[in-house]
Amino acid sequence: MRIRRRQHDDLSTYRECHDCGLVQQVPDLPDGEVAVCGRCDAILRRANVKGIPIARACVTVAALLFTFALISPFVDLHVLGRYTTSTLFTGPKELGQRGMAALAVVVFMTLIAMPALKITLLLMVLWGMMSPRPSKFLPWIYGWYGFVSPWAMVEVFLLGAFIAYTRLRAMAAVSVGPCIIALFGVMLLLVAIDATLDREAIWRTLQAKGARLSRKDMQTEEAEGWHHILGCHACYLVSRARDGESCRRCGHHLHFRKRGSLGRTWALLIGATLLYIPANVLPVMTVLRLGKGGPTTIMNGVVELAEAHLYPLAGLVLLASVVVPMIKLVSMVMMLVLTHRKSDYHLKHRAKLYRFVHAIGRWSMIDIFMLATLVGVVRLGFLSTVLPGMGAMAFCGVVLITMVATDMFDPRLMWDAAEERAARDDRVITAVRKAEST
Ligand SMILES: [Zn+2]
Ligand SMILES: [Zn+2]
Repeated sequence: MRIRRRQHDDLSTYRECHDCGLVQQVPDLPDGEVAVCGRCDAILRRANVKGIPIARACVTVAALLFTFALISPFVDLHVLGRYTTSTLFTGPKELGQRGMAALAVVVFMTLIAMPALKITLLLMVLWGMMSPRPSKFLPWIYGWYGFVSPWAMVEVFLLGAFIAYTRLRAMAAVSVGPCIIALFGVMLLLVAIDATLDREAIWRTLQAKGARLSRKDMQTEEAEGWHHILGCHACYLVSRARDGESCRRCGHHLHFRKRGSLGRTWALLIGATLLYIPANVLPVMTVLRLGKGGPTTIMNGVVELAEAHLYPLAGLVLLASVVVPMIKLVSMVMMLVLTHRKSDYHLKHRAKLYRFVHAIGRWSMIDIFMLATLVGVVRLGFLSTVLPGMGAMAFCGVVLITMVATDMFDPRLMWDAAEERAARDDRVITAVRKAEST
């Protein structure tokens, strides 16, 4: 389905809904107002122009706190007169030294590299946009901010570290370093920024100041006579363009829909389902105390927390590590099957389900971050040591692959498929009526 409009319609106020693909006008809003998609209820814009200077201050403080968190002590552990200290880097380093290089890379990326990149990109955009002539690369950089953001998992790490801390307290004297407090501050600031940042206002400011990478503008669009209306997946601007051309606002490539979406999502889901079995059967770690102890699986970990009367934490780990991946796999398969069948069954609820699945996926990393914290902190040889197990690698694979699968799936295809079927049914009805009348 390709929406065609008259060649001279002004598209500057139109946006494509990222969830259902409906092209609609988003009017100028006063601060505090929210624009919602008329078809699937997705939030298209949360107007908060006055919040931009606050976001600028927040991200600057977050950058300072994050730098401090990277260099300050994380957790100190005392067991029978022996002592170890660790930083945020110790967990990934120890995982790497114990033969889990892939896991080390994932923890390093989601805990250190991606949050650092997210903060840096936002610093560049929010300070850069104050210049009267912002760099032409700024919109392109800002487009990347949206893609990097979900992979920065400071808040998930803190929850994992908290569970590790309650487990450690049962076996040794633990003291929390200033790193945790700084990281907690970073988390609060990033959550506040994510909840209040008016992304559209930043795009408009950059556009008004003439910052753009692509030389194409509305006049050339019209002169070239392109009628196809494509929404940008980075900035949501709607323009007349060919598939594969650059967006005139942010420079990212325009595609009508994500390429090969259904096939790729199927492949990833099959991979994740196969890994789900070893993830739950193989041990995720081995805890050794005075040479004793044995391997534990995800479910063993849940039972241990329950036996220690830490019921809310046991419930949380069960939810994040077992229930959430299962919900994700089942929901994604259901959405794929209904899309193939061109069904219009509860489309609006399916759009909500997609948003939910997209938002909860990252929380399954809790168990991996708990493991990284334990492996990094508990390394006292014979006295007490925590070793990572192959189950953790499989589990991390499940989490990451399902996250990529939800990203790969294009929810707009559900609406396209239903529309296609409705059009076909209409044609059949018209043909039948014609046949009846003659
Ligand atoms: Zn929508
Ligand atoms: Zn764009």
